[in-house]
Amino acid sequence: MPEHDVLIIGAGLAGQRAALAAAEKGASVGIMSKVHPVRSHSVAAAGGINAAISVDDDWHSHAYDTVKGSDFLGDQDAIEVMCSEAPAEVMHLEHIGVTFHRNDKGEMDLRAFGGASMKRTAYVADITGQALLHVLYEQLMKHHETVARYEEWFTTSLLRDEEGRCAGAIARDVRSGRMEAFTAKNVILACGGAGQAYKPTTNGLIVTGDGIAMAYRAGAPLMDMEMVQYHPTCLVETGILITEGARGEGAHLLNANGERFMEKSAPNKMELASRDVVSRAEQIEINEGRGVGPDGAGIYLDVTVVPRKRTLEALREIVNLGKDFAGVDITREPIMIRPGQHYIMGGVKTDIEGRTPIEGLYAAGEVACVSVHGGNRLGANSLLDTLIFGRRSGEHAAARAAGIPMPTVNANAQLREDSTQLEAIIGRSRDGRRVSEIKSELGETMNKQVAVFRDEEGLQNALETIGRLKEEAGKAWIDDRGTVFNQDVLGALELGYMVDCAEATVVAALERKESRGAQFRTDFPERNDAEWLKHIEISLNADDRASGPQVSYSPVTITQWQPEERKY
Ligand SMILES: Cc1cc2nc3c(=O)[nH]c(=O)nc-3n(C[C@H](O)[C@H](O)[C@H](O)COP(=O)(O)OP(=O)(O)OC[C@H]3O[C@@H](n4cnc5c(N)ncnc54)[C@H](O)[C@@H]3O)c2cc1C
Repeated sequence: MPEHDVLIIGAGLAGQRAALAAAEKGASVGIMSKVHPVRSHSVAAAGGINAAISVDDDWHSHAYDTVKGSDFLGDQDAIEVMCSEAPAEVMHLEHIGVTFHRNDKGEMDLRAFGGASMKRTAYVADITGQALLHVLYEQLMKHHETVARYEEWFTTSLLRDEEGRCAGAIARDVRSGRMEAFTAKNVILACGGAGQAYKPTTNGLIVTGDGIAMAYRAGAPLMDMEMVQYHPTCLVETGILITEGARGEGAHLLNANGERFMEKSAPNKMELASRDVVSRAEQIEINEGRGVGPDGAGIYLDVTVVPRKRTLEALREIVNLGKDFAGVDITREPIMIRPGQHYIMGGVKTDIEGRTPIEGLYAAGEVACVSVHGGNRLGANSLLDTLIFGRRSGEHAAARAAGIPMPTVNANAQLREDSTQLEAIIGRSRDGRRVSEIKSELGETMNKQVAVFRDEEGLQNALETIGRLKEEAGKAWIDDRGTVFNQDVLGALELGYMVDCAEATVVAALERKESRGAQFRTDFPERNDAEWLKHIEISLNADDRASGPQVSYSPVTITQWQPEERKY
């Protein structure tokens, strides 16, 4: 049975940064990913990463913008850590080989992003995630003697010892179908978000909430799950993202009358207000009949106002996306977009060292909720979150490992249970529904009822549908009966993870009877600090999962910035 001081599940930016940090502290590390690490979803990140590195900027300003962007739900101790450590982290990335864009003076260039009071987004054209991920992967090679890479291994569940501490995980080698138990002094979850619970979404097919659901099933609380970010600029048909970098470079949003409607809701920041504000403004234009396109379901993003040379240099990827997926040359004509699911602010509750309430279990990146984003994440703060809290988790887990023995855990029972479950899925008769049908219905339900605007009736409908889909998912059948690269059977497991994430999201959205950040309740349209300036936590009793999601609350940490009215 493989044994590691630190086992990291997920090899996107959070996982790889955690692995490097733990290895540099002398720990033996295992890093596992269901796809090749550089295919992790972080590779899609486009616009950039925030840090107060300009001489006239200050991390306090970055922190205040983040607190305000979060609609005062973000925990300010965590936000202070993230923003104060950002400049050193970005400079470190440059020193290890990230070719950030430079200006004519040869300095690192910074672009404007939503909700920021000044330009503070470092970028590599519009392929920032790809640039970061490849450099970290190169760095990981240097540690090949102490970092074991389990590439194309799919984790099915977490292991706990008799005292309830996390002691490893069960996983399946995707290539062969072999099941294996891994023992570890610490496990760091870095499995990314759960965007595929929505349809459409900007997230790739692998973003299925595995880490969130595995931690939840093991008894870890989830926090801020009701806060789901709709990005203002996604292609109407496919939901593919057009980076906020486009508006950062000066692009306009126009309704059917050719008006820059952001004047009404954010006269100062206009298109660069925070994402929740812009998405709501767009949805209002669409709902009130001022949308563009066949059913009036879109809004125009006009990039032609940006000098063509600059667009071709700094936004080249979205020039290609526009041509390939919408048949539009964005340097010559506006492109039709609308709000689309993009990011989840919620996740597994952690402290600023990445620790979850389960001893030995850490989480970092989009899977986690240290609550730096609160009710709404600012663009370009997620890459930062993955790196800062990935590093901190790796360092903390390595230090913890130095002081404890390898846990003794009898993994056989759980190994058998997970193997039997997979065999059972493979052997199911074809009398239920297919995994893909259930997944589609789940995504469409979430996109209809748990989107930019929500109300009690829609959320209750969504909860009922999810209850039915949960039962159906337990019987869903698949085509592939083999062992080698059987993605079908893994898809059935992923469906179960997504259903759990969706249920937690809806339960939390029903609970929060106010409007804050990404949660706008048309039946409770005001923010209500007196009753709801608190986090909602959703947990499962690991020994009695059938009792369903349990709701509790925790206070928001406020250090320097008292809640105030949010205007852009
Ligand atoms: C199109 C797009 C553009 C974006 N642009 C930006 C941007 O410009 N700036 C910004 O700050 N943010 C951006 N974001 C958000 C940001 O990219 C993500 O939030 C962030 O990269 C998530 O990183 P992560 O390391 O947490 O997870 P991921 O990169 O998603 O990695 C998850 C890892 O977990 C592994 N995994 C998952 N489940 C399992 C399992 N069961 N077993 C084994 N391994 C598993 C996966 O294989 C993968 O290695 C963007 C997001 C999208 C979708």
